[in-house]
Amino acid sequence: MKKLSTLVHDADRATSEYIRMKYSDFAGNVTCITCGKYLPWKDAHCAHYIERGRIETRWLEENLHPACSGCNVFMKERHKRRYTLFIIDTYGREKVKELEALEKIVVSPSRKRQLAEEAIEYYREAVKTL
Ligand SMILES: [Zn+2]
Repeated sequence: MKKLSTLVHDADRATSEYIRMKYSDFAGNVTCITCGKYLPWKDAHCAHYIERGRIETRWLEENLHPACSGCNVFMKERHKRRYTLFIIDTYGREKVKELEALEKIVVSPSRKRQLAEEAIEYYREAVKTL
């Protein structure tokens, strides 16, 4: 059985690759959802609306979008404000509540394992359809 930390790492990789590729255009570039910077998908980050430490939303597609490193790492406050508006504009206000409800769930190690395994399976297949 794979170590949980290995599974989490693999799930993060598969998820991040898919999310950044999904939002890339014909030229292989994405637009940062919070500042509008246009950059190669490989240089973009897979930004989490509900922070990455929250497991129930860590690999949830609607919680993940491309952002530049400047926004995701260095401009956290502005990024969070604009990201909230992006979620509302894209999915509606209910989605914010829904994600915030998931954020509160305390996840057991076995649930974490299950979510990581599901993410690996789902995103490794999904990336082939792009
Ligand atoms: Zn940005």
